[in-house]
Amino acid sequence: MNSLTLKSYAKLNLVLSILNKRPDGFHELKTIFERISLFDTITLKKTSGKILIRCAHPHVPKGPKNLVYRVALILKQDFGITQGVEIAIEKRIPVAAGLAGGSSNAATVLQGLNRLWNLGLSDAQLIAYAAAIGSDVAFFLYDSPYALGEGRGEKIKALPIKTKLWHVLVTPRLKVYTKDVFGALNLKLTRKKDDVNILLPFLKEDNLYSICSNLSNDLEPAILALKPHLGLLKDKLLDAGALGVCFSGSGPSVFALAKSQKHAQAIRAAFDKRFAQVFVVSTI
Ligand code: ATP
Repeated sequence: MNSLTLKSYAKLNLVLSILNKRPDGFHELKTIFERISLFDTITLKKTSGKILIRCAHPHVPKGPKNLVYRVALILKQDFGITQGVEIAIEKRIPVAAGLAGGSSNAATVLQGLNRLWNLGLSDAQLIAYAAAIGSDVAFFLYDSPYALGEGRGEKIKALPIKTKLWHVLVTPRLKVYTKDVFGALNLKLTRKKDDVNILLPFLKEDNLYSICSNLSNDLEPAILALKPHLGLLKDKLLDAGALGVCFSGSGPSVFALAKSQKHAQAIRAAFDKRFAQVFVVSTI
């Protein structure tokens, strides 16, 4: 095998609870991840020597700052691989948008290089590499549409849930930096209810209306403190007929829940594509 093409999916957080700040500076969190049908396409090709990244997106780093470069370098060093690899990323997942595009790409390349370079890494070993590379990476190694995330997001428990949700995903064309959001977070104001365990039974039962009224993201006050007008985006989705709305991760992406694909498409029509990228996506 000389090359391999793989899909790299995005995620949403149906609930994101921030529990506390740890001595290492990371926040302890509890979240429900949902894998969604929006994906990047990644092609890996064997080459001689170097790690090369090709991506037309202007904000995707092409060198060591790209998580996929780090994955390739670590594996190359740990396994004494003399070959190189060209990693071509066709980006559809908006960058720095709370959708974990970079983490998903890292997980995909980890799985891909394990096959391309015949490394023989077990699932448990891949998961250990993922946790070392970034907070959300491990989720994408589980072939599961939903998972519980704990720790800083690297401790994953797949959830055997069959519910298929339809969303309108709106990613405003503005930047909200993860570190600024955590910087603006006032932990005293965050709720102390167990939001994950409140949502879980409704998600298992496919109780759409109760799912919608129990979406939550503890980072929302911090996101809105930085970009107050993003609150209007949530209102606009509700006015357009969405059953529930929530920020994903540290934003600025906002997702809505719809009754069906058709309903989601009708909501999407209300948005001006000059100010935001708007997608209809489902659980996958
Ligand atoms: P996080 O919340 O983990 O910061 P995110 O989902 O908000 O992630 P990403 O699309 O993963 O956003 O991008 C975050 C940053 O990671 C970007 O600013 C980009 O410079 C860097 N990055 C590194 N590797 C990648 C990659 N393969 N794809 C996209 N961005 C990447």
